[in-house]
Amino acid sequence: MIRTDYLQRVVFEDLDARCVYVSLEQVIAQVLAKDDYPPAVDELLGQSLLVAAALSSGIKFDGRVSLQLQTSGALKLLVADCTHEGGLRGIAKLKEGASCPPSLAALWDELDRDGVLTLTLEPADGGQRWQGIVPLEGDGLNQAIEAYFQRSEQLETRLALAFGNGSGKALMIQQMPPSAAGPADEDGWNRLGHLMATLGEEELLAVSGGDLLDRLFHEERRRVFPARSLDFHCPCSRDRVLDLLGSLGAAELTSLFEIQEIVEVRCQFCNQAYEFAQHDLGDLIDPGQPGGSQTVH
Ligand SMILES: [Zn+2]
Repeated sequence: MIRTDYLQRVVFEDLDARCVYVSLEQVIAQVLAKDDYPPAVDELLGQSLLVAAALSSGIKFDGRVSLQLQTSGALKLLVADCTHEGGLRGIAKLKEGASCPPSLAALWDELDRDGVLTLTLEPADGGQRWQGIVPLEGDGLNQAIEAYFQRSEQLETRLALAFGNGSGKALMIQQMPPSAAGPADEDGWNRLGHLMATLGEEELLAVSGGDLLDRLFHEERRRVFPARSLDFHCPCSRDRVLDLLGSLGAAELTSLFEIQEIVEVRCQFCNQAYEFAQHDLGDLIDPGQPGGSQTVH
């Protein structure tokens, strides 16, 4: 079976640089099937999933990296996230009644006006979250990510993204913090940058990962790590939804059950429905019950 959804890490040991290649097909199909997005949003969501996957290769703990775009334009919110194990999910929210620009370039013009990019690293053990928020810069998501790393971590980054026919590919190279002795090859980073600049979107989309890396970097000494699978994965659960309901407070919950016997909560990322009857909520809803008040404001 040909693997369609995976990421491949490569380190250029003489150059203090690394490279990540991402290929997505089934995950993109699953995410885009959840809603009927305009084509420009399909493409941006596909690109964002590629970026989330590429960034997940760099996290050094068990947890999740999340990319969020927010604007006051037609696209209110876009979220794509990826766990350290390669579990991806994504969603976009459009402003009601607003008409979405017909192309990604036009959509990006809107985003460029007041868009904000947020990257969050969230450890699975509930440890301290790390969050970086920057205004969107550049002519597309790839340039926004490059600018983000330049600004926040002073790491030179080049990112190429391609999306078409329901599949997406990404190639990212990034300088690593220099080793004590410095890179053995001073000009190495410039050379990698020039090689990346020769890569067109069509080539990135059409040529398979191993062949592409061989073609671009055949003269560079590379350490290639085993490829890692990427899958659609949503971490929602009945318990998490129950926590969320608890945060509404007893009064709000009680009023929900005045309108209906069963409250259904649907996960926006994966469409999974969770149903609750009043007795499922126990002391969240009735502070008089044994167990004490759980009212959360
Ligand atoms: Zn879910």
